[in-house]
Amino acid sequence: RAKGAGRNTFRFFDTHMDAEVEERLRLRNGLHRALDAGTLLLHYQPVVNLATGAMEGVEALIRWRGEDGQFIPPARFIPVAEESGLIVSIGDWVLGEACRQAARWHADGHTGMKVAVNLSALQFRRGDVERSVVEALRKSGLPGHALTLELTESILISDTEQVLSVIRNLKRLGVRLAIDDFGTGYSSLSYLKRLAVDTLKIDRSFVGDLARDPDDAAIVAAVVTMAHSLGLLTVAEGVEDEETRRQLHALGCDHAQGYHFARPLPAAEITRLLSEAGLPHEPALAG
Ligand code: C2E
Ligand code: MG
Ligand code: MG
Ligand code: MG
Repeated sequence: RAKGAGRNTFRFFDTHMDAEVEERLRLRNGLHRALDAGTLLLHYQPVVNLATGAMEGVEALIRWRGEDGQFIPPARFIPVAEESGLIVSIGDWVLGEACRQAARWHADGHTGMKVAVNLSALQFRRGDVERSVVEALRKSGLPGHALTLELTESILISDTEQVLSVIRNLKRLGVRLAIDDFGTGYSSLSYLKRLAVDTLKIDRSFVGDLARDPDDAAIVAAVVTMAHSLGLLTVAEGVEDEETRRQLHALGCDHAQGYHFARPLPAAEITRLLSEAGLPHEPALAG
């Protein structure tokens, strides 16, 4: 009897594993087809200057509409793309497309617009990220200083001489470096000393409850102070209400992103914001 139960348990587990593997395979194949068919998209979330309310740039965020027409969240397919190595080609596409779009905004006269692109660790390990960035800038004509590369702490703590030298070469192109989700990884602060990082993006797990949680406020205050003493800028992620915006501004945080200002939007909507309306929360006067 015990043996039978064990076997059933095992079989259940096995079936569960198969479903998981199958799902990943399905995602992987679908993603491959989408990349080939050119149906992947980028949305762009405004990055707002907290002192003026103006949109100074955007973060490019990948969007994939599955065959049923529904968006599949990046949190579900990026890990699959990383596991299969597909993230290297996807990452190249993202770099090319984001630079092309930003160069258009520049050509329309919005020459201050910056675009931030998320990079995966695998693009450093398996890809030639340096060549990809050079190509994306060359093909689009976008100046390097208009491009920010967002890296996670996990890329930086790997700390191989190869990663460090690639990052130094990227900096020579004038591109800016931001640490994404700052505070959630193994924050070895030593890389801030060794690498010419420009920006810390404070993870939304510290920002979401800022107005209600004094511990979060203390952490954000400390990060902003440290960043400024190192000559870095700060971006708060996940700002969802006016009180949080107000407190971040009072704490001296430089920039912010979040649903309070705007969700990630199709390029055409960013173009419209640039040309006419501005953001809903943009004050008539600075200050
Ligand atoms: P991330 O780089 O930290 O991007 C910020 C995420 O927070 C985005 O989720 C954005 O839609 C979401 N967000 C923005 N404002 C708010 C807010 O006020 N509240 C809440 N709750 N969320 C907000 P998204 O687009 O689902 O992307 C998730 C993650 O997937 C990104 O996190 C990034 O790590 C990864 N990702 C997205 N696009 C790319 C890409 O092109 N390449 C790579 N390698 N990773 C990407
Ligand atoms: Mg990011
Ligand atoms: Mg982030
Ligand atoms: Mg995040």
